[in-house]
Amino acid sequence: MTCEKIVFVKSNILYNLETALKIAGVAQAFDGLGKVAVKLHMGEYGNLHYIRPAIVRQFVDILKNLGNSPFLFDTPTLYSGSRDTPSKYIDTARRNGFCSEVIGCPIIISDGASEIATKGAIGSIKVAKALCKADGILILSHGKGHPDLGFGGAIKNLAMGCVAKKTKKDLHTMSQPVLAAECGGCGKCVDACTKEGISLKDGKAVFNYDNCFGCGVCIQTCPVQALKPRSASIDTLFSETFFTIVEALRPKPIFFVNVLMDITPRCDCFPSAGKDEGFPICSDIGLLIGTDAISIDSASIDLIAKNCGDILEKIHHVNPMRLINTLKKDANSKGVKLIPYELLAL
Ligand code: SF4
Ligand code: SF4
Repeated sequence: MTCEKIVFVKSNILYNLETALKIAGVAQAFDGLGKVAVKLHMGEYGNLHYIRPAIVRQFVDILKNLGNSPFLFDTPTLYSGSRDTPSKYIDTARRNGFCSEVIGCPIIISDGASEIATKGAIGSIKVAKALCKADGILILSHGKGHPDLGFGGAIKNLAMGCVAKKTKKDLHTMSQPVLAAECGGCGKCVDACTKEGISLKDGKAVFNYDNCFGCGVCIQTCPVQALKPRSASIDTLFSETFFTIVEALRPKPIFFVNVLMDITPRCDCFPSAGKDEGFPICSDIGLLIGTDAISIDSASIDLIAKNCGDILEKIHHVNPMRLINTLKKDANSKGVKLIPYELLAL
């Protein structure tokens, strides 16, 4: 059976990267291509576990040697913090080691977006214009735990990281829980929520939407199905956004890289590593390169499970395969052929 090849660099990343990119087909697909967007989360201020600038510089140098004009790219955050405007983000990126002098290419932070209609619950999404204008795209993601999805990697970096604030907000608020039936007041949803997004008042569930990003754990936990998402589950919304972006960008070459190092319990949006949940939650594993985000995230989750058991689900109460399985189901209904992955270890 044909398999999706994922190149797995276990060690000596800086020395092995050029060979790995050749084996993965990146060097061939991006040979003299033109403008290449390297999508990267450059870390909230205070966080020290984002992808290291030395690794990013190596990607940029290789892309330039192939005759391209790469640029680092990200979108401002929805939440208030050190990256919620382009100018604040540029300042934070500099402090974190990402500036053109160090990385060797321009850094573009922009909320400019093109609107694309979708067929699902979201209705339309706003995709970053910088991606739409690029000739090729490298989605460079830090693989780690994620409070809403269990695992944050390629799918999250594309579907949440490459859209404007309006769509980021839709992804989180349209999946927040609402009461669908009589609440029995058992409190199981309160115990299951790790974010204090739900509590009991007068024996009934009430929501604190400021703390709730719509992970859906409470909905799954309720024994009497008293809860439902406002519009659709977070997995369904991510799937809709993911496939819409990929369809809009193809046939441009898109490659995905997951770096499984400094594996934190929470994403790089948090200003601390989450020491109370343990850090690192798994020892360094390496770097994965491939063309299919579903396969590369599946492989990342499998490798973390192989090395560290079900640590991702234990921390956030979210099975990291939940999102993957939703995307697989949606791919099937769209006629998108998915094949098993195979690791090619270097
Ligand atoms: S959706 Fe998640 S964060 Fe929101 S209340 Fe339910 S369990 Fe808590
Ligand atoms: S789990 Fe369901 S029944 Fe129990 S308190 Fe929460 S919403 Fe109410």
